[in-house]
Amino acid sequence: MQSRREADVVVLGAGPAGLVVGNLLQGRGIDCVVLERAERTHVQTRARAGFLAANTVRILERHGLDEGLRTRGRDHSTCEFRSVDGRFRLDYSGLGRGERHTVYPQQELVSDLLARFLDLGGRVDFGVEALAVHDADTGRPSVTVRDADGRPGRWHARYVAGCDGRHGAARRSLPAGAVRRHHCDHGVSWLGLLAEAPPSLDAVGYAVHERGFAGHMARTSQVTRYYLQCERGTPADAWSEERIWEELELRMRGEEYGPLRRGRVLQRAVVDLESDVLEPLRHGSLFLVGDAAALVSPSAAKGANLAVLEAEILGGALVDDLLHHDPKGLDAYSAQCLSYIWRAQEFSHWMIRLLHGPVGGADDSAAFHDSLRRARLSSLRSSRSQQDWFAEHYVGI
Ligand code: FAD
Repeated sequence: MQSRREADVVVLGAGPAGLVVGNLLQGRGIDCVVLERAERTHVQTRARAGFLAANTVRILERHGLDEGLRTRGRDHSTCEFRSVDGRFRLDYSGLGRGERHTVYPQQELVSDLLARFLDLGGRVDFGVEALAVHDADTGRPSVTVRDADGRPGRWHARYVAGCDGRHGAARRSLPAGAVRRHHCDHGVSWLGLLAEAPPSLDAVGYAVHERGFAGHMARTSQVTRYYLQCERGTPADAWSEERIWEELELRMRGEEYGPLRRGRVLQRAVVDLESDVLEPLRHGSLFLVGDAAALVSPSAAKGANLAVLEAEILGGALVDDLLHHDPKGLDAYSAQCLSYIWRAQEFSHWMIRLLHGPVGGADDSAAFHDSLRRARLSSLRSSRSQQDWFAEHYVGI
């Protein structure tokens, strides 16, 4: 026997996208519910992004969602590139639009957004998996769900905000032909690591090495994220901690530029660098937001930032429609977000080609592409206009 439940907006997923949409709606008194497959502790401890763009911080400020990041976030504005041609730093707060990042772990942002949503009286059903969105091409969509004990249910709504990531129910429920998927597999994989070790540089470190890319990004004073390019198909546990640190040290050229500060590896996962974009981002009453709308490879740290931006746009448009009977924002949602998404994709693609050697063999064209990569790095090192372009896209969204 299924129970019947109703809300004006059903939000799928309690990640950054879903919780920003939820806060904007709840703050205006709109009846909404957030359905989240995972348990609360999992959602609040899942370490992923950490670099918030200046515009993301402005959005969170505008809606009173910035208290945590204002008190615990740290300004960040330098990146360092290392390669066979030496190293150089860019202080991007003095380039482009003069903007900085705020380093604030995604799990803390999610915890803040959740706390605020609950304070406002919001409802999150944890441990409830959305199975499918039905009748999205009508004005009365519904979402079938299953709770942690396997009990079925159905939510009825006017709108569904699909904020449930790349493998969620929103994407799966799109009928064939309703939406086009643009997909690119960059052929590169990263072993992503979180280490219980203080940052080794006061900058984001990008090491371009003949053995593959290595990256260094501060998370907190005691935790650092590292990336190591690895062969496609490498299991996450294939490398011992000793091998990981040796490889990082080698690729980051620790002998030349100073050793890394080592520590226990807390988490590891292999990420295949892929990008995709769905177009359009709306199917009737169902809207796609964040990773459900587009997957941006982590090479340029855009995913969480896009998720917050799209969530603000959708939240505002839903408020206009539901409170003021003005559907213009909803009608414009897809085109507006896609213009931001494609710009982020373009920059991420450029970063991938800057940081990785040619994939798949050492033929003439591989050597050619490798020389192009060195030229790209050299131009970034010496050309002020190239640096301004980089800074604008690196921090901007
Ligand atoms: P998610 O955060 O994935 O949230 C989706 C939620 O939906 C989840 O809580 C999930 O449990 C839930 N869900 C899924 N399916 C269902 C279902 N069927 N029913 C109900 N709930 C469901 N981005 C940056 O901007 N900067 C960075 O530095 C950065 N670093 C990253 C590092 C790594 C290792 C990874 C993996 C990603 C990184 N990203 C970064 C990307 C960023 O984490 C994502 O883009 C961001 O989490 C997207 O937010 P979202 O709310 O759209 O999706």
